[in-house]
Amino acid sequence: TKGIKVHRTFESMKLKPDLLKGIYGYGFEAPSAIQSRAIMQIISGKDTIAQAQSGTGKTATFSIGMLQVIDTKSHDCQALILSPTRELAVQIENVVKHLGDYMNIHTHALIGGINVGQDVKKLQTSQPQIVSGTPGRVLDVLKRRNLSPRHIKILILDEADELFTKGFKEQIYEIYKQLPPGAQVVVVSATLSPEVLEMTNKFTTDPVKILVKRDEISLSGIKQYYVQCEKEEWKFDTLCDLYDNLTITQAVIFCNTKLKVNWLVEQMRKQNFTVVGMHGDMKQDERDSIMNDFRTGNSRVLISTDVWARGIDVQQVSLVINYDLPTDKENYIHRIGRSGRFGRKGTAINLITKADVQTQKELEKFYSTKIKEMPMNINDIM
Ligand code: ADP
Ligand code: MG
Repeated sequence: TKGIKVHRTFESMKLKPDLLKGIYGYGFEAPSAIQSRAIMQIISGKDTIAQAQSGTGKTATFSIGMLQVIDTKSHDCQALILSPTRELAVQIENVVKHLGDYMNIHTHALIGGINVGQDVKKLQTSQPQIVSGTPGRVLDVLKRRNLSPRHIKILILDEADELFTKGFKEQIYEIYKQLPPGAQVVVVSATLSPEVLEMTNKFTTDPVKILVKRDEISLSGIKQYYVQCEKEEWKFDTLCDLYDNLTITQAVIFCNTKLKVNWLVEQMRKQNFTVVGMHGDMKQDERDSIMNDFRTGNSRVLISTDVWARGIDVQQVSLVINYDLPTDKENYIHRIGRSGRFGRKGTAINLITKADVQTQKELEKFYSTKIKEMPMNINDIM
């Protein structure tokens, strides 16, 4: 990270005027820490590994870098952004569209769960200059030769550690192999373990690395608490007691399985609490409508699996509850990072039983952070 020039303003990056206009139009005034360091590295064309805490603006980092190097006059596909969930791929496409509002760019989201025929039709009419997608669908249209990889000059892997470790790795590699030689690769995540950094060697050449030390990954703006429950069944009563606080702004409750999400939604509704549930076994149109309702604030309490752990940006979320502790350490920080976006305050509460005490201790140690017992009066922490 040493020796990288820090740009305190967007002007000093000498961006295209139309791009600068899009950035200000989107409401950004000054670059965040990662933006002030990584955007110019991406523009320079070097492979880049960009790590920064949750909610600090990584999406705009790679989007601005990418938009600057896109040739708007050419109507080939020039940039490919891959991410692990459909909702995230769509969210990224939206950010790109907004930032590129004055550039007259063509983007397309390529995600699973919707009829591939629609994608094929669209791609046959014209190639999008920028694609944001999930690996399976992108690979599918590449194999069908409906998307041409020949002019792709930049590949962005968002939530790269998730992509590398959750069964996408082969697909990513197959996509990567189809790119023209010398295509630039940008690797992005809040969590990049030494093992994952090792894996990036396969995709990058002499990359610029902007990294965060492990003990600096957790955000001080997010307060972390636990409630010790005598047994598993008590978690439910605790959650019901907390419900009024959940609805003050918006809250996400994480469970470890789809079954548990369904179960918890049903139990909460039986007690007349208003909640929505979302997980990967639902139909895509249902997932879409739940996301829309939650983004607009129509629904305020969402129960989900780790399909919601990464990348999703809903600024109104101020409380995250781990009904189950996550099964991997990385997703703990990603889950609680759904609150406290871009410097906002957030609160995380873990509902734990005796069986979880050790796991929670390990999380504290891993992130050099403190998880305190929740005070009796929750109003003291909100
Ligand atoms: P990350 O990917 O690092 O977790 P996101 O890219 O999702 O974070 O950004 C988090 C939030 O911060 C978004 O709502 C985004 O619009 C906002 N944001 C990003 N950069 C800026 C900026 N320079 N000024 C103001 N808000 C920003
Ligand atoms: Mg992100």
